[in-house]
Amino acid sequence: MPLDEGLTLELTETVRRVVEERLIPAEEQTVAEDKVPDEIRALLRDLGLFGISVPESYGGLGLPLEAETRLMFELCRASVAFRSILGTNNGIGSQGIVIDGTEAQKRHYLPRIASGELIASFCLTEPDSGSDAASLRSVARTDGDDFLISGTKRYITNAPEAGLFTVMARSEPDQPGAKGISAFLVEAETPGITVGPWDRKMGQRGAHTADITFDEVRVPATAIIGGPERRGQGFKTAMKVLDRGRVHLAAVCVGAAQRLLDEALSYAMDRRQFGQEIAQFQLIQAMLADSQAEIYAARCMTIDAARRIDAGEKIPMLASCCKMFASEMVGRVADRAVQIHGGAGYMADYPVERLYRDARLFRIYEGTTQIQQLVIARALISEASEAIGR
Ligand SMILES: Cc1cc2nc3c(=O)[nH]c(=O)nc-3n(C[C@H](O)[C@H](O)[C@H](O)COP(=O)(O)OP(=O)(O)OC[C@H]3O[C@@H](n4cnc5c(N)ncnc54)[C@H](O)[C@@H]3O)c2cc1C
Repeated sequence: MPLDEGLTLELTETVRRVVEERLIPAEEQTVAEDKVPDEIRALLRDLGLFGISVPESYGGLGLPLEAETRLMFELCRASVAFRSILGTNNGIGSQGIVIDGTEAQKRHYLPRIASGELIASFCLTEPDSGSDAASLRSVARTDGDDFLISGTKRYITNAPEAGLFTVMARSEPDQPGAKGISAFLVEAETPGITVGPWDRKMGQRGAHTADITFDEVRVPATAIIGGPERRGQGFKTAMKVLDRGRVHLAAVCVGAAQRLLDEALSYAMDRRQFGQEIAQFQLIQAMLADSQAEIYAARCMTIDAARRIDAGEKIPMLASCCKMFASEMVGRVADRAVQIHGGAGYMADYPVERLYRDARLFRIYEGTTQIQQLVIARALISEASEAIGR
């Protein structure tokens, strides 16, 4: 049973307080050290936030997606680097196991993922395969009852900290595209794995990505998510994981945008030009109002999509709508927040300079805006074709 409504509200309230009292004050240190401080990591673990989406029977909070999105609205008012350290455990790193894993895999990994003791990463992207993920080249060659995995994965979130990788690799070399791919659970200690140095990113300092190379990494067939009978089904697992993840990410964008608007409003009410607060100028008010309306729109669509997923609806098209709209929205809100700050917005002394860079990622990962557009348009065309019997 998931947490009841009262406890969920209480947790959301606690996260709101923790954001103000602990996380926002720790942002500068996180940037300076390019590392989330150990005490903040411990605090997030103690709150159970590494296991928001893991069922209670495996040690998580088991929250419905709607409650998870509401938590993200609050948490992501603080630097999104804090969300990133627990993002893969709640999303792409754990949900494959939750959705398609065997009972043994669930029991073995989920409790440690939920507690934050084990960091779980998801390895799909490769140097030559990003948006066209089904063209990935990593191979999983059979060797007796085992598989030997070889290939390079790129930009893998939390790879330097991870103890467990979900690795998408081609197990059926004669099957082209998505059909020949399996999802393997690979422990970081397995011989043949090399994690590269941290990538030097535009923003989100404190959250890390890296390349990983797999050189004949031996895993048993039972390491396939769902067991040997789900061999060749890995891409389907990945797509199911991404649907839920896109709604989660939309909620992250709403939280980040709210912070940017709060910063912009506060600056506008403080800064004076031409003898008055700049907040009194209607051209500044237009930027504030547009941002507020767009945040509200993204918030509503995110909650609607989350409720539908909680009710068991399959909504890949709406999930893409949320991810696309919310990530583009936070880009516009960030741009206006910098504009409202004038020259100060370009200076690292004010948080909006950093928050602007942090927000740029959301239009790129877990499917770029262009890929979301393709998903949405293709769904529309397919529905319309069906309706007219084509
Ligand atoms: C910080 C960060 C963290 C990440 N974390 C992870 C992770 O944990 N695990 C993981 O597997 N991956 C991760 N990624 C990878 C991310 O998902 C990819 O970068 C993303 O999917 C885009 O792929 P790409 O970089 O190869 O760009 P490309 O696919 O090369 O795209 C380049 C441009 O071409 C456009 N384009 C591509 N195809 C089309 C098309 N058909 N029509 C129109 N336009 C198109 C794209 O929209 C984009 O504008 C991460 C990336 C970053 C930057």
